[in-house]
Formats: sequence, C-alpha cells, structure tokens
Amino acid sequence: MQYRTLNNKDNLSALGFGCMRFPKKGKGFDHDEIEREIRYAIENGVNYFDTAYLYPGNEEAFGKALEKTGARDKIHIATKMPHYFMKTREDAEKHFKEQLSRLRTDRVDYYLMHMLPDVKTWRALCERGIDKWLEEKKAAGLIKRVGFSFHGSSEQFIKILHDYDWEFAQIQYNYLDENSQAGAKGLKEAAKLGIPVIIMEPLRGGRLVNSIPEKAEEIIRTSTPGWSNAEFGLKWLWNQPEVTTVLSGMNSMDMVKENIRIASYTETGCLSESDMNTYEKVIAEIERKVKVRCTGCGYCMPCPAGVDIPGCFSAYNNSYVDSYYVGMREYFMCTAMKNERSMASQCKKCGKCEKHCPQSIHIRDELSKVRKRFENPVFKLMTIFAPGKVK
Ligand code: SF4
Ligand code: SF4
Repeated sequence: MQYRTLNNKDNLSALGFGCMRFPKKGKGFDHDEIEREIRYAIENGVNYFDTAYLYPGNEEAFGKALEKTGARDKIHIATKMPHYFMKTREDAEKHFKEQLSRLRTDRVDYYLMHMLPDVKTWRALCERGIDKWLEEKKAAGLIKRVGFSFHGSSEQFIKILHDYDWEFAQIQYNYLDENSQAGAKGLKEAAKLGIPVIIMEPLRGGRLVNSIPEKAEEIIRTSTPGWSNAEFGLKWLWNQPEVTTVLSGMNSMDMVKENIRIASYTETGCLSESDMNTYEKVIAEIERKVKVRCTGCGYCMPCPAGVDIPGCFSAYNNSYVDSYYVGMREYFMCTAMKNERSMASQCKKCGKCEKHCPQSIHIRDELSKVRKRFENPVFKLMTIFAPGKVK
C-alpha cells in the first residue's frame, strides 16, 4: 500500500474503504463477508474506512465487523454528521452518541459535515453552535479531525474551505468530473491551503467500470493494454499529488484485491503524455451523450433569481451520460438541499446570464428543458421535505 500525507500527520492509505456498498445477503448485510473483506483490507495496509449516519445499517455493520478484527487502533474511522437534522447542539450530541454506539468505538477519527452544498448552510450551522460543539468534542478527544463532504460548485467549495479551520474535505472527483462539482479547481485550492482531500465516487459508483460506451472501452483496451476500466479510472486520480485518499465503495473480495493491487504500485506522476491523450479520447467518447456544452466556468453567475445554472446543467447532462436516477439525485442535491433553492423553474428569463456565457449557450431555453426533465410531481413532493427555501 502507498501512503499519502500532504499536511496530514496520519499517513493515510492511498486507497480508502467506502463502506456504503457492503455486500448483502437476502434482505440484510452479509456480515461474515464484510468481516473477511475488512480484515483483508487492513492486513494489506488500508487504514481509512468511510461510513455515514445516513447509510442504512452501515455504521452498525462496520462497527460489528471491525470489533471482530480487533484492529480498531490500526485504522481511522470516518463518519458523517447528518447536519440537516440538527436544529440545536443537543441534536448533534444525541446523534453523535448514537454513532459511537453503532460503531462500537469511543471516538471518531474523521468527522464530516455530510454533503455541505454551500457556505450559507455551514454558516447556519455555526449560528446553531455546531462549530463550538465540534471544538469541544475535539478537546475531549472524541473527534480527532473535522472535515466536510461536498456536492456543489467549485466556487462554493472554495468559500467553505476558507470559512473554517478544516482538517480535510471530501469531494466527488473522477476523470469525467474534472470540471464539475468542486473539480480540479477546488482540489488545487485545498492543496494550496494544506487541506487533505478524500475522493468519493472515483468511478462514479462503478459506472465508469461497467457502463461506459463500447467505443470508449475499446480505446482503453488498445491504448493502455492490460489496464482494467477500474485501473484506468483510479490511475487518473492517484497520478495527482493533490489527491490524498481515494475511497472505493467495495462490495466483493475481488474488488478489494484488485483495488489494493492497483494502489500498491500507482504513484503520483505515473501517467505519460500519451496516457493523458487516451483520457481525452475516452472522455470525448463518453461525452457524446452530453446535451448542454456547459463547462461549469460560472461566468453566468450569480443569477438574480437564485438559479444554480452550472449545477442544473451538470445534473441534466449526467441524466443522459449516466442515468436518469443519477441526474435526478444530483439535481435534488444541488437545487433543493441548499439553504436557498436554486431550481431551473426559478428562472425569470431576464437574459443577464446569456451575455456572459463564453459557450454562447441559450441558457433560458436549456433551463426550460431542465425543468421539464426533473421537476415532475415526485420531485415537487420531495421538495416539501427538503430544507431549502425559495429566495
Ligand atoms: S435568464 Fe434566468 S437564469 Fe439567467 S440570469 Fe435571468 S433569471 Fe437567472
Ligand atoms: S457561463 Fe455558460 S459555460 Fe459557464 S457555467 Fe454558465 S452556462 Fe455553463
């Protein structure tokens, strides 16, 4: 296993174990298999395990398996606060105690604010005293490091980075998301500030392994012989020195072994110029399905009506490139889960944004298509329970 430090004294393994896709048996978890995989991962140097309050049954399953391995002190547990349920400090205390009990531990090593979409949401948490509460937990040795996971624009990611003394951050990043979400821009800013970045969705939930177009797959086979689709995706990440740990949501022993094998010899700067050309060709092939040629540059922002224009287009494109479900989930996250909503339907058609778009996108027309694709009755029903308010 390779280890990465950046500014982090913990020497984290380049490969982290994402626990959210643990193997199932019948309607529940396959606890024996989970224990076997965790044991193998630890014996082969993986020392970062990521779970969350919100993943059903996940913290318990992981806590149970880890206890059996007896390796608690060899690894770092990362879990996430469901901050959207937090009205008060007491709520935070209650959920945190529950998490310790589920995980069968007396401390959490890496504690994240789960899915912060923008800086306003973080500031609203601070107004409720959550920042002070975190400091108290750190002083008491119950939380070792405080970070956040993020889904939103690079602009908001950078604002959050600068708003608190974060010790790490977690972002969605892979060769298709170089310029969306926090993106390379956000990753580089974090590195500049000395903040280690943990990567989630390195293979887009396995879809960069199992669901890429045949032509893209053929390019990988012929240009980088011997590499699997997983290796192709993971190498792109580990090539970058700003990346600390790459989480893989592993759910079979084969996957654990393959990822550990790749992590054991893939170093920063491992890709040649010809490899980078191959990535460009593969990306172009996958992006043939893209509907709106938005680069996520953000020049059209801010929108006076509060629409998250690049966020809307990213979700819309992903609903074609990836799957409708993935796009819808992203759309819900980036428009309804913020303090202030930012949906396509809020567009007042003033046209201000179009004057600034270097890609000459007919933003108003495209936003109408986004609205039609996503804002169906189910979406509207879901927004009733989401925290965001209309500006
Ligand atoms: S046209 Fe719509 S999206 Fe563009 S700035 Fe005006 S309200 Fe915002
Ligand atoms: S200015 Fe154009 S390309 Fe840039 S984020 Fe806005 S819509 Fe996308």
